[in-house]
Amino acid sequence: MKLIKWCITYANGESKDEFSPAQILQFSSVLLELCHMCILLMFLYAGVYFMVAVNVVSLLIYVVSFFIAKKSNYRMFYSFVYIEVCIHIILATLMIGEDAGFMLHWIAILSILYMCCYGFRTQADAQGRFRPFVFDLISFALFITLKLYCVFFKPIHPLADNSIYGMFYSMNYGITLFAVIISLSIFITQALTLHHRLLTQNALLEKMSTTDPLTGLSTRRIVTDFFEGDCHIPFCAILGDIDDFKKVNDTYGHNCGDKVLTTVADIFRSCTNENAILCRWGGEEILVILPDCTLAEAKKTASAIRETICTTPLFYQEQHIHVSMTLGLVSSDEASGMNHIIQIADNNLYYGKGHGKNCIVTSEDALQAV
Ligand code: GH3
Ligand code: MG
Ligand code: MG
Repeated sequence: MKLIKWCITYANGESKDEFSPAQILQFSSVLLELCHMCILLMFLYAGVYFMVAVNVVSLLIYVVSFFIAKKSNYRMFYSFVYIEVCIHIILATLMIGEDAGFMLHWIAILSILYMCCYGFRTQADAQGRFRPFVFDLISFALFITLKLYCVFFKPIHPLADNSIYGMFYSMNYGITLFAVIISLSIFITQALTLHHRLLTQNALLEKMSTTDPLTGLSTRRIVTDFFEGDCHIPFCAILGDIDDFKKVNDTYGHNCGDKVLTTVADIFRSCTNENAILCRWGGEEILVILPDCTLAEAKKTASAIRETICTTPLFYQEQHIHVSMTLGLVSSDEASGMNHIIQIADNNLYYGKGHGKNCIVTSEDALQAV
């Protein structure tokens, strides 16, 4: 039931949890147990008591395999199941002949084998990737040998009634089809779940590599992407640096410094529109790229940021913290290339730091002063 529910959730694209290998193998053990129950009843009906006894042993084997499955030891599980299935196919075919269709079980067991080998593979199993092909070869060799044997020798216990052969064949055909469908469904669902998890993790990694965890602003990567991408549009950049931030840390502690940083980041967000690229450029330096913006508009934005920082009351443990910021401006007309543009903004910022801080400096301001 859980498996069906899981497949439905998956089909709806909302799969969250996956089945553990142990659960899948236990589920497979129960199914194999049921198959052997049917086979046992059929042999009982046909009066082939040797095979009834063989199937009782098979049932016991699947009880053991259930506990092997519990330990998630899928290699031991499928080796164990594979040997049992091969012996069962050989004995059943020798007893009642190939017309009963027991050789079809090789198709069933190989699909379970592929599911185990590729569905549950970990990195440590990488060297075992050819294992299923070895099992393929063994199965093929056994199949040919048994087929040839059947050409030359009669079954030990041929069934009197042809309709019982038909029943055996239908049952074995059904079991095989069922095993193939179940294995494929589990395998595909497992693969889709892993794919889904990979996409989620990739999205998380992408977010982590482009978002500063403290302030929620972008990292430098976004700015680099902007300059590497289509930056033919005119833009302005503002580089802001909190004044005397070291003093804030030294006086009120690092946590207080962090709170100042997040508050300042929030102010940057509130003073810019959604087109702006906000980046934590360095420790307490914030870079804003304003695409499609004139220097006059950038100056307005920078003024709004500076004034809001100065006038927003910031308290840490009931103490008022005074915060201010110096901002250097640059327009894309002044230079080309990321390094050059940022260098100009930094020069202007540096100029502001040397001239009283808590101000906005454009290249024009800095040049006029020279
Ligand atoms: P100025 O006005 O010249 O910019 O002086 P300042 O003290 O702000 O500049 P300085 O570069 O000397 O100090 C920056 C400080 O920012 C030093 C560093 O410990 C602090 N800092 C950098 N990143 C963080 C952070 O994530 N959290 C906190 N609390 N402090 C940080
Ligand atoms: Mg500073
Ligand atoms: Mg600094």
